[in-house]
Amino acid sequence: MASDLKEAGGLTRLFVTAALEPGATVALDEGQAHYLRHVLRAKAGDRVLVFNGRDGEWQAQIAAAGKRGISLEVRTQTLPQTGCPDLWLVFAPVKKTPSDYLTQKATELGVAKLQPVFTHRTIVTRINQERLLANAVEAAEQSGRLTIPEVGEAIGLDKLLAAWPRERAIFFCDEGGDAVSLADAARKMDMGPVAILTGPEGGFDPAERESLRALPFVTPVSLGPRILRADTAALAALAIWQSVKGDWR
Ligand code: SAH
Repeated sequence: MASDLKEAGGLTRLFVTAALEPGATVALDEGQAHYLRHVLRAKAGDRVLVFNGRDGEWQAQIAAAGKRGISLEVRTQTLPQTGCPDLWLVFAPVKKTPSDYLTQKATELGVAKLQPVFTHRTIVTRINQERLLANAVEAAEQSGRLTIPEVGEAIGLDKLLAAWPRERAIFFCDEGGDAVSLADAARKMDMGPVAILTGPEGGFDPAERESLRALPFVTPVSLGPRILRADTAALAALAIWQSVKGDWR
């Protein structure tokens, strides 16, 4: 008897890259096939949900579950394609909290892009982009997103700012004081592409703070009177922005 492959939040959702339309066949990658077979004990006829970031979400049935892998047959569309707000998180990776955690939470909070940035006081020197992307895919599947956030290649702050698209406003989370609250700054900002920037454990150094504040598209913002850990700051800022200007309204 075919069954629905269920997890906590309902039918299992899988991100695939194939085009989705009625009758399309989708071959799952090894990781997904293993997960369905050995974790969910999937068999032919079982139903899952698939999305590819372009064609919305579709219900699919397992067509064949053999040694050579699992293929799905796409049936009906369950959701039309929608995106997340055009919100980027530019974050200095921090040692304590694996960037995996931050990537997963930022994906749940609806970022469109995660951009790791190296600042003068950043301790972390390497970022595993592939791994971050895998975390983002998993979080997108779990959270019901229809898109996967982009994960940028880690880059130095100066280089990033030199090539920055000026139409994208940056909310610079500056713990150094004399900044308006993010909520007030977000309310005043016209709708448009934005980025939230957070620093490393050691914060931004005076030179970075000065050069950031001198840029016309940068608005220094406060996240309240206490010093938050970098990951707390990033997630709090994303939640504030989503509430004031994003898709939590
Ligand atoms: N070591 C620094 C704190 C760095 S906290 C110090 O003691 O000053 C890491 C990052 O989180 C900061 O660079 C900033 O981007 C953000 N952050 C933390 N608390 C904040 C606050 N109250 N307001 C704005 N940004 C904050």
